[in-house]
Amino acid sequence: MSGPLLKVENLTKHYPLSAGLLKKNIPSVRAVEDVSFSVEPAETLCIVGESGCGKSTVARLLMRLVEPTAGRVLIDGTDIAGLKKDALRGWRRRMQMVFQDPYSSLNPRLTAGQIITEPVENFERLSRKQREALAADLLAEVGMSSEMMHRLPSEMSGGQRQRLGIARALALKPELIIADEAVSALDVSVQAQILNLLMNLQQKMGVAFIFISHDLSVVEHIGHRVAVMYLGRIVELAPREALFAKPVHPYTEALIAAAPVPDPTRVRLEVPLEGEVPSPLNPPSGCAFHPRCPFAVDRCRIEVPPLVSMSDGRVVACHVRAPPVASRPSRHALERI
Ligand code: SF4
Repeated sequence: MSGPLLKVENLTKHYPLSAGLLKKNIPSVRAVEDVSFSVEPAETLCIVGESGCGKSTVARLLMRLVEPTAGRVLIDGTDIAGLKKDALRGWRRRMQMVFQDPYSSLNPRLTAGQIITEPVENFERLSRKQREALAADLLAEVGMSSEMMHRLPSEMSGGQRQRLGIARALALKPELIIADEAVSALDVSVQAQILNLLMNLQQKMGVAFIFISHDLSVVEHIGHRVAVMYLGRIVELAPREALFAKPVHPYTEALIAAAPVPDPTRVRLEVPLEGEVPSPLNPPSGCAFHPRCPFAVDRCRIEVPPLVSMSDGRVVACHVRAPPVASRPSRHALERI
């Protein structure tokens, strides 16, 4: 296969609202606006932003758990939005999801062995011996003993349940796993174990990840590239090292400045991030970040800044910090996003 594993083009999701007896339409909630990116095989793309920025909606759109208002999600050049039920089933083998709360995403009445083998049995019949061998193999992959296959989720710790969720996601040998806040509910020490497990699995199996998190220290640990979202839009997308060494968008800069620094010798800039994320029901005009941005100029209140490519491979949407419009991303640069 040549080219990216997954390509997302101008993905948009608005939720229309209705009010009153006449169900009169009022403005839509603009959850995701014009989002584009690609994911290479065995790559980890992190999507980061504050709560309500639209990152989890992107995950649900990719899994086709919700339908997009506009835009395309391409796998090997095929737009999955147009796939019918049977074709969609085949595609679902290739992309799996790991959720934030493993407890609510695992059937409490099934044993770990049944939970792991259930996705495979949706496609093929397995003998009891095959089921047990598959469950034992996948439990071993995520660092658990085969004895765990007879336990219920309620008999496991949070970290064990998340390992079980990962084993279930691996059962169909997916090429891409979308992990939505997959370690947020875990203790810091267990978080590190799960992150190391994911990175080891990527090296061993070549699986790609879209890792969605609000936690920059997690993203800095696991991501190859990082997309920063604000109020439904990507405002900066960059290789991890470049992003953390020199954030360009004022929002990225403020997020990094606000994150705890585990290394006491490392100094980070003081960039205040004041105020709340505005409502996606009534987003600010122009650059949605302008009410919180200390660098805003008049133009920021009027025009939505386009994503502009920079020489180090990143793209940024900012009237003040990004280069002139004359150097907007070439077609080639956009394909790399
Ligand atoms: Fe701030 Fe203007 Fe850049 Fe938006 S476009 S981040 S308001 S400087």
